[in-house]
Amino acid sequence: MKCLNGCGSMENTLYKGAEIDVCSSCLGVWLDETELADIVAAADDRWPPGVVEWALARTEHRVAEPANESEQQLECPSCASALHGVNYQGDSGVIIKTCLRRHGVWLDRGELATLQIVVRHRHFELETA
Ligand SMILES: [Zn+2]
Ligand SMILES: [Zn+2]
Repeated sequence: MKCLNGCGSMENTLYKGAEIDVCSSCLGVWLDETELADIVAAADDRWPPGVVEWALARTEHRVAEPANESEQQLECPSCASALHGVNYQGDSGVIIKTCLRRHGVWLDRGELATLQIVVRHRHFELETA
């Protein structure tokens, strides 16, 4: 399939047991919502020092923010309807773009890793609170 940003074709690859499409140019990712949930739930990586801090700093001010309307409008590769920005899990601070007909979700470069870190960190906080 073609990259939603129009870079070229995307590469189908396996990531943590889920089939995802990755663009080698913009590093955007397209995958099923259920696969994204599985990936986030299975997040058990040891991230390099600084990466966790970076991810949390990147998302902390986006908690209550809706999707940025000025961002380029992306189209679902299956039904060509416009994708909608959604704050993942309501308050993760990571804005993912989703097809309202549930064909899949789009993540910009680095957002898949950010999501895993942020969600895991929050679970950790809850467990130790
Ligand atoms: Zn691309
Ligand atoms: Zn669609």
